[in-house]
Amino acid sequence: MGQLIKLGVRTKNCRHKNVELDLDLRHVICQTCGANVDPFEWIVSVAIEEDILEARISRLKQELDGLTKRKYNPNKPKQ
Ligand SMILES: [Zn+2]
Repeated sequence: MGQLIKLGVRTKNCRHKNVELDLDLRHVICQTCGANVDPFEWIVSVAIEEDILEARISRLKQELDGLTKRKYNPNKPKQ
């Protein structure tokens, strides 16, 4: 069987975040654009996204700590 092409769907710029897993055929199918996504590439993209989110959470925690320390610092002069 040749490659299946689904017409009438947008594939450009889709990040394939909404996928369906076909456990029997071991396929990853994007529910947004209909692409048959390479399973390994999808796993890598999820891992990269997870790293980005962890770094963002870490930065936000540091920012929150900084704001909390400034707000509740008893030595801080009142304005
Ligand atoms: Zn997609």
